[in-house]
Formats: sequence, structure tokens, C-alpha cells
Amino acid sequence: MRILILSDIHSNLVALEAVLSAAGSFNALWCLGDTIGYGPQPNECVELMRQHAQIAITGNHDLASLGKIDLHDFNPDARKANIWNGSQLKEENRAWLDPLPPSIHVDKQFLVTHGSPREPIWEYLLMPEQAVANFEFFPNQVCFMGHSHVQLGFRMRSGSEHAERFLPDTGRTLELNSSTRYFINPGSVGQPRDQDPRAAYAMLDTANNSIRFHRVAYDVTATQRQMRECGLPVALIRRLEYGI
Ligand code: ZN
Repeated sequence: MRILILSDIHSNLVALEAVLSAAGSFNALWCLGDTIGYGPQPNECVELMRQHAQIAITGNHDLASLGKIDLHDFNPDARKANIWNGSQLKEENRAWLDPLPPSIHVDKQFLVTHGSPREPIWEYLLMPEQAVANFEFFPNQVCFMGHSHVQLGFRMRSGSEHAERFLPDTGRTLELNSSTRYFINPGSVGQPRDQDPRAAYAMLDTANNSIRFHRVAYDVTATQRQMRECGLPVALIRRLEYGI
């Protein structure tokens, strides 16, 4: 089974469509949260997730846009974009987003969470020490997470007390070793922050027990134009072209 893993779409429909077309055929889609916030097309992005996602969780920007967490936890630009995103949501899309949990135990092998197993909404899992600590909070072999908008992974062999961080190259395939545990961040579809403006995603192949990391270029200027038309903050528009 080919499972498309997406995170942090952030209402960027142009990027999402580029990913869906580059990904080719897939049997399932897992969405790791922050489908909305920041960008210009929240309804269209939610509708594609409603159509494709077998598993979907919520993120901090989804919750803020729905008015479920305090907007003061966000900087002024993010807050403004969250308020705007929430104001645009159609009732049926709000109803789909509203009950999503921030993490789901998929099966014995996989956990999905937005931030981290110990802090599903807020933790940015970026350092090996955090990975080591977080491995104690779940029993599964592999945890997929988003939130940091950085495409990366951590692995820890059984018996080891250290985790290794790795930054995947595009098109690189990671074979999952049964005696190793992993954290995998597919990167952000709609607002990458690893100095690479291309949309990021990952494909899990359960037949080969492998994960492949991908980047795909999309028309950044089209999303920027839409954001300008919606009156979204200039800094959020600019950052897309730098991947920061
Ligand atoms: Zn995000």
C-alpha cells in the first residue's frame, strides 16, 4: 500500500495540487494537521482532505482558526491569518475539522501526531535529545509528525540511548529496519521552513516497509498573488519564496 503523508498544508492550494499531481497513485493519505492557517484557500484545502484523507489530525493553527485555542499564543501575523482563515470556513468544512484529535494511534507500527507524542499540539521536534525523550511516550515503531515545517527524521536502534537526526535528500528511500524506531517529518506542503521553498511530502510503502521523501516545485507567485488579494500579512507572503 502506498500512503501519501502530508503535513502543514496551510491553505496553500497551489502547493497541495502540485503535490497531489506529483505523488501519482496512492492508496491512502494521512494528514498530519495544520491544513489551514497562514494561506489563502482554506476551504479548498479542507475539501481535498475530506475527499482523500483516511487519517487526519488537527494542528495548532487549525485549532486557533476554529477559535479553540488562545490566539495570543501566536505572533500578530499568524494571529491575523488564523482569524481570516476561520472567518472563511464553510460550515461543512468547519464541521470536518472540529472533532479531529491532535494524534492518532494508527496501528501497532504507526503513530501520527502534529507536534510530538508528549506534546501533540505545541512541541517542535527538531533535536535528537527531544527524540530520545519522546520515544518513551509511545509504543509504536514509527511516529510521523509535522509542525516544524522541516523535512527530517530521527532514528534510534534498539538498545541505544542516542537518536540520530537525518535530513533526507529528495527521492531518497529510507528502508525501515525492524530493530530501529523512527520519527519522520514529511516537511510542509504549504509553507516549508528549511530554506527550500518547494512543497514537501513523503510516501510510505507498506509492501517494502520504506519511506521516500519528496520535494516538488509549485507556482509560489500564484499563492502570493492570492494572499495579496485576501489582504494577508506581507511577511507571510514573502517567506514562501525563501522557504523560511
Ligand atoms: Zn504548521
